[in-house]
Amino acid sequence: MARRTSGIGEFALIERLKRFQNLSAKVVKGIGDDAAVLPLDTKRYQLFTTDMCVEGVHFLKTMPACSVGWKAMAVNVSDIAAMGGCPRFAVVSIGVPRTRSGINVRYLEGIYEGMHECARTFGVSIVGGDTVKSDKLVINVALLGDVEKKKLTLRGGAKPGDVIFVTGPLGGSLKSGRHLTFTPRVKEARWLVEHVKPTAMMDISDGLAGDLGHILKASSVGAVLDEASIPLHRGVTLAQALTDGEDFELAFTISFKSAKRLMKNKRFFPVGVIVHAHEGFRLRRADGSQVPVQAKGFRHF
Ligand code: ADP
Ligand code: MG
Repeated sequence: MARRTSGIGEFALIERLKRFQNLSAKVVKGIGDDAAVLPLDTKRYQLFTTDMCVEGVHFLKTMPACSVGWKAMAVNVSDIAAMGGCPRFAVVSIGVPRTRSGINVRYLEGIYEGMHECARTFGVSIVGGDTVKSDKLVINVALLGDVEKKKLTLRGGAKPGDVIFVTGPLGGSLKSGRHLTFTPRVKEARWLVEHVKPTAMMDISDGLAGDLGHILKASSVGAVLDEASIPLHRGVTLAQALTDGEDFELAFTISFKSAKRLMKNKRFFPVGVIVHAHEGFRLRRADGSQVPVQAKGFRHF
């Protein structure tokens, strides 16, 4: 019997689709990280990711075209950053609605200006794509990047005792409009993989609680977050910082020894520690008490 996706949730659906992967021995990492990791040459891996922006879900027609375009590219660049890599080549597919007055070419050009600006900023060349008719405006970017083998950082390497960091304040991204204009953390990620070698890393697209949950699952560990040290954007509650989507800061873990060095660097915020899996995922309140965290962030369904 056909099963509707709305009953099982986004990640359970991806889990079911995983069996169609056709993994060859050459695939270093398939489904389950921010980008796929593939062979490239003796020193580097190829990174491959894709993310889609849909009108009414990720942006509204009333939002500036240029920012929508920036976002469509930036969400992909962010996934390459989360692997410790450099973004390189993109193809862009667009589904375009035709209204009574025809196609809004100016709006589309605005989107491309924004995409181009983001691509230029991060060294990406747009090298192709596809154009089709669609009921709603859809922009899909597929992006190749690469990373030195030694610098590849997956979600699965966190160890008990590691310190958890984020690259910036969290929460309120949608309300404030930051989700359209954020800076993907390529520079920070490259600095980290060159200087302190994170044990695990991902970008926060669905809220810290949910996304850190992915690191914990992939690494078979638990975590204790420290309420007082989670950096919040102005006017944002802790609950929002934990569950709001589209922050696009990085969350990463590093050994306690490296963490001590990093604490002096004001660009990075320590927010908790990795513990053994049986200790679960908890939040330490200001009064010292601990409460369980639901590893739930934004879900499409
Ligand atoms: P991110 O937010 O970092 O882009 P997602 O949460 O979208 O990651 O996806 C998690 C993992 O599942 C990624 O490895 C992604 O490639 C994979 N994935 C997502 N949707 C699909 C799909 N429809 N088919 C195959 N793999 C998918
Ligand atoms: Mg990601």
